[in-house]
Amino acid sequence: MNGTPLFEAHDLVKHFRTGRGTVQAVNGVSLSIPRGRTVGLVGESGSGKSTVARLALRLIEPTSGALRFDGADLGAASGAALRRLRRRMQIVFQDPVGSLNPRMTVLQAVGEPLVVHRMARGQELADRVVELLERVGLGARDLHRYAHQFSGGQAQRIGIARALATGPDLIVCDEAVSALDVSVQAQVLNLLRRLQAESGISYLFIAHDLNVVRYMSDEVCVMYLGEIVERGDGDAVLRDPRHPYTRMLVSAVRDLGPSAAAARRPVAEAVTGEVPSAIDPPDGCRFHTRCPVAEPECHTERPPLRTVPDRDVACRLVDSRDSGDRRDPVVSP
Ligand code: SF4
Repeated sequence: MNGTPLFEAHDLVKHFRTGRGTVQAVNGVSLSIPRGRTVGLVGESGSGKSTVARLALRLIEPTSGALRFDGADLGAASGAALRRLRRRMQIVFQDPVGSLNPRMTVLQAVGEPLVVHRMARGQELADRVVELLERVGLGARDLHRYAHQFSGGQAQRIGIARALATGPDLIVCDEAVSALDVSVQAQVLNLLRRLQAESGISYLFIAHDLNVVRYMSDEVCVMYLGEIVERGDGDAVLRDPRHPYTRMLVSAVRDLGPSAAAARRPVAEAVTGEVPSAIDPPDGCRFHTRCPVAEPECHTERPPLRTVPDRDVACRLVDSRDSGDRRDPVVSP
């Protein structure tokens, strides 16, 4: 069983009906997270990456597609079987203070998953919570304080302690450091990496910040309008991006210069054009309305995610260069 990935999503689709039409939030996303590894999902706001996070944990149900966790059919699980699987999958949210109940003490907030899953109570519960706090750099002195009494970085440590409470195999980090100052970000990222080294946790790491995703991820998936457009080894994809959208994201970050503050500027501000509406997405390649190297065929032909040497890319030009007719989709800085 250990040779199988911990988590697999196959051809996930999620469409939401709204008063203005059907939002095609996720369209055929497949991904696989090995044990003890990190898969990063990066893209602008509206790319569907947070919807993938919620689908992965079955916080929302897919329109279609399959989910497997540790070899089990997560998509079909219900009742006690689903609760057992859920204990092994947790999430850390973006807003560290806002995601904690303001009326709960740290003891209650971090201990809640242990109570819900009937894993501890009384003095054993308090002892377990102190252990969890110590793993994230806090301690017994914090047990009876409230979320608003902590800085953003400390509150996120509490969120991580809460996520660790049930001993999960997978933690989904949904923009988990986006709200933090750069120096605090680095501390929290290093904490997450240390916890992975100690416990072999897998992460699905979702962020709009390329530098953060590169630092954390073994594999990077770049999402655009509900689809993965490029996927491969994190360093390779960000050092030598092939899809025109990934190139645009990477060159935008480089253009911003080396300052940490600039590098944290949201992707949505740094690239040209806007993400089209997911209610009526473009025909053909969904990126063609912003692509600097689009061809007439791109308006009608949808490029599948194809395997090329060292990665998968959904662009007809990248595919053609591997047939010997290299038309490198260079994006001007
Ligand atoms: Fe651009 Fe066409 Fe490639 Fe889409 S398929 S990314 S529009 S060149």
